[in-house]
Amino acid sequence: MLGHDHALSGALAFAVVAPLLPVSGIQLAVAVALTAGAGVLPDLDEPGSTIARTFGFLTGAFAWIVHRLSGGHRKGTHSLLGVGLMTIAALWAGSFQQGAAANSQHQELWWHLVPAGLILALLFSAGLRALYIGGHHGDLFGIALAVLVLWQRWDLVEVTSWHVPVLAVSVALGMLAHLAGDMLTHDGCPLLYPVSRQEFGLLPEPVRITTNKLAERWVISPLLLIGLAYFIYRDVSPALTTATSAGWP
Ligand SMILES: [Zn+2]
Repeated sequence: MLGHDHALSGALAFAVVAPLLPVSGIQLAVAVALTAGAGVLPDLDEPGSTIARTFGFLTGAFAWIVHRLSGGHRKGTHSLLGVGLMTIAALWAGSFQQGAAANSQHQELWWHLVPAGLILALLFSAGLRALYIGGHHGDLFGIALAVLVLWQRWDLVEVTSWHVPVLAVSVALGMLAHLAGDMLTHDGCPLLYPVSRQEFGLLPEPVRITTNKLAERWVISPLLLIGLAYFIYRDVSPALTTATSAGWP
């Protein structure tokens, strides 16, 4: 599946579950953008992929390391273990960042912001790049967004009952959406890697799609866009209604 469809599917996944989360307005937009980036995160195991080229040789070298560690392209990062490990990394970055806030009188604790900042900058920039938003300025915009989110601590807003911060929710949702997307294609995903190399798919073999062929371009991409538009409208319309009725009694 193409990078932009993976990014769209991540954004869609967040828009679908958004009513369960305490985010609205600009926080919702930011979380949707973050999850779009997490939608291309599993392809960090491929040095030529969109996300691997986000920050030039820096992300390229990192992708090469991920490629070696995860067993190659579409292996570890496309498994449930990979999703779990990345989510734990996001949780850890969030709690490390929280440590800085708890001791904000100590200037030297700025480096507590670094892991979460790196994840945010990578995901925002990769998401914008995958969606062809902004070109090279997209990377700068992604970094600026990361700084804004860190400063406002929006990535730490917790999902009420589970106490899971938005950053970890976005990483898990975006990666799962990516796996689901690849499971619509002929390749499938090795969900149980490294225990088993079996490739799992969501569709019977004859109707699985081929990346960048007619079915993806004319069925999957438009469906993702329509779905995203619908769920974003659903997410923001109660706020619009309230705003309108408040303004026009
Ligand atoms: Zn993939």
